Amino acid sequence: MLQQDLHIHTTYSTSDSSVVPEQTVALVAAVNHARVVGISDHLENLLDGIFDIYAGEIRQVGLKVGVEVDGHSWVAEATGCDVDYYLFHCRDQDADYRSLDRLLATGRPVIVAHPNALCTDLSRVPTECLVEINNRYVWRTDWKQFYGPFKNRFKFVIGSDAHQPNWLGQAAAHFAAAQLGIKEHLVF
Ligand SMILES: [Zn+2]
Ligand SMILES: [Zn+2]
Repeated sequence: MLQQDLHIHTTYSTSDSSVVPEQTVALVAAVNHARVVGISDHLENLLDGIFDIYAGEIRQVGLKVGVEVDGHSWVAEATGCDVDYYLFHCRDQDADYRSLDRLLATGRPVIVAHPNALCTDLSRVPTECLVEINNRYVWRTDWKQFYGPFKNRFKFVIGSDAHQPNWLGQAAAHFAAAQLGIKEHLVF
């Protein structure tokens, strides 16, 4: 079992076409692939009262409530949400770096989401922020060169950025086998 996974999308991310209909909060909770699981759907999909329903559903199954904030234009909305933590898209622009300070001022954990995919300049990120290494994007860039110089500057968080049950690793298959009462045969 993983220690934590705080970057998971569900069917609440309605604008994200890679989320499948089966990726519900209930399924993620049932798969139980990590000791601490947080849901982090896109804030722009949680407007008009949807956030309260979203947060209620997540808390009811004992998971952490996050949101993924797409840059500075969403920060005012984000600071008004009763979340346990933020994931933030920090593009390489002044307004986004300033937004990190505004999110930190809430006292909640702020995770800089997949900075390697957004060309975030980590030398401009406050050291109070957590930096994400995520399963969806890490392999697409020269991760040694990108993260290496900052490995002593930040605390890091590892996330799946799962949009589908199978992105949660083997956990979905283990869950189904366990439900069927099937024990895996270890070949070696
Ligand atoms: Zn993202
Ligand atoms: Zn995401």
